[in-house]
Amino acid sequence: MKLSAREIRSRAVEARAHYARCDLCAHDCRVDRTHGPAGVCQEGDGLFLAGAGVHFGEEPRLVPSGLILIGGCNLACQSCETYEFSLERRGLVKTTPPELASLLLDLEKRGARNANFVTPTHVLPALLEGLAIAADHGFSLPVVWNCGGYESLPALRLLEGIVDICRAASRTPPRCGKASPR
Ligand code: SF4
Repeated sequence: MKLSAREIRSRAVEARAHYARCDLCAHDCRVDRTHGPAGVCQEGDGLFLAGAGVHFGEEPRLVPSGLILIGGCNLACQSCETYEFSLERRGLVKTTPPELASLLLDLEKRGARNANFVTPTHVLPALLEGLAIAADHGFSLPVVWNCGGYESLPALRLLEGIVDICRAASRTPPRCGKASPR
């Protein structure tokens, strides 16, 4: 992360405004997500996590990696490796930005070399809010954006200076239909 905590907070405020007419990914739905699930991803404005932990199953240069597994997705790839929480939204826990910040600080304390957000794009604003709080408390790990490579230009602008490594991992063509309803 090249930006200060203050700059990340300012980015997070800017990002949250996008939920009202969502253009965070290339589906460009322009729907209001502030009143509940909407758009192709069928997401509202909350953050739901499937888990977090120090992970050794990534590329050697990334490990130990501080994995944050995010519920939901803006894609619906036919061979999704994380379909249980990305598409079927099983076992998710609603997580506030301060709770996300605590998780990030804990991963850093436990020796993670980075914060590795898995399927992050649809909840970009909530993640920036958590990162801003964590940065206030000294969090300084590189950020890995472990996504499907389907971000919009506005989303990429919001992430500039915050994300250090983009790991776009879509292996099969996405179906452009709706994801499973929550
Ligand atoms: S994140 Fe993408 S799929 Fe979801 S509402 Fe926004 S533009 Fe649509």
